[in-house]
Amino acid sequence: MLLVLEPALEEKNIERVVRTLEELGIRAEIVRSASQVVVFVHSDVRALPTHKFSQIDGVARVVRISSTCPLVTSNTDSAIEVAREIDGRVTIGGGAPPALIAGPCSVEGLEQILELARRVKAAGATMLRGGAFKPRTSPYEFAGLGAEALSYLKEARRLTGLPVVSEVMSCEQVELALESVDVLQIGARNMYNYELLKEVGSTSKPILLKRGISATIDEYLHAIEYILLAGNNQVILCERGIRTFEQRTRNTLDLSAVPLLKSMTGLPVVVDPSHATGKRSLVRPMSRAAIACGADGVMVEVHSSPDKSISDAEQAINPAELQKIAMDVSHLYKSLISIDETESGLACSQPGEVRLVAASSSKSLG
Ligand code: PEP
Ligand code: MN
Repeated sequence: MLLVLEPALEEKNIERVVRTLEELGIRAEIVRSASQVVVFVHSDVRALPTHKFSQIDGVARVVRISSTCPLVTSNTDSAIEVAREIDGRVTIGGGAPPALIAGPCSVEGLEQILELARRVKAAGATMLRGGAFKPRTSPYEFAGLGAEALSYLKEARRLTGLPVVSEVMSCEQVELALESVDVLQIGARNMYNYELLKEVGSTSKPILLKRGISATIDEYLHAIEYILLAGNNQVILCERGIRTFEQRTRNTLDLSAVPLLKSMTGLPVVVDPSHATGKRSLVRPMSRAAIACGADGVMVEVHSSPDKSISDAEQAINPAELQKIAMDVSHLYKSLISIDETESGLACSQPGEVRLVAASSSKSLG
């Protein structure tokens, strides 16, 4: 059961709700979501009548839950779109202009990342990505420069002001990355790593959680729930393609997941067309498609000499292509706003509504 508390309830009153429950022998916990404070009731209260809870001072609403991921779906009714602020500099979601997260698959050296950071910024990127710890399918492939790369990313952020996104694969790496990274990325392979989800959930950093390679939407929702339950509601979702029977692309980009996840969770959703397609020629068209279906941003892999990328060379684009994507994103975003405005203008001047007003005023005159 969830007790949704009255808005702007004072701290002492919030705690009083929990105390009242404890006096009844009920175990409960305060959970602060992006938009509201709720009390999560852990004890089995199925046999107790709802009014026992709704009559407690400060409780606005009682929600009996059958869902196994109540925190993720608590926004669904209100359809609130949550914005995430990264380091006070970039906003993702909530109707803000789409974020453009760009950078190499792997940080390959200090010069490389500094040059790329400058070039992606000039091309229109709003955040820098770069892998320090790389999950590789083969243990013989380059696995990233590790902690050394984190210090390079920190320097790139200092020089460009771009907030940095980088992946962590273990609890130890979370500790190492906290100082240099603005957004902790959980990669597709680790979406099911529940200890890692709990660990990043205990930090106050925004988390970019990628959808698992074969994860259903329900499995993805439960992974998000782990992070929210651990106390961190700064979650950004990322659709990066799922495994299907198709062999011509690296994965299959499930764009329907974008509006679906947005409406189910209220959280910002970005799309990674690089890992979704594995082909540089498809990155721009799928970035366009992502924005058209409502994504709050795109994350793309960029390299100064794409063919020479140490990892994921086939999907790397150059900064000139990124600049085209930046322009596409901006044009599409403006077009969508103007379509929405036209639509709401039309909705206000429905002929039926006009007739209704006329009918009631003529009645009152008569
Ligand atoms: C990445 O973004 O660097 C990455 C490894 O992606 P994914 O986890 O989606 O495969
Ligand atoms: Mn990659």
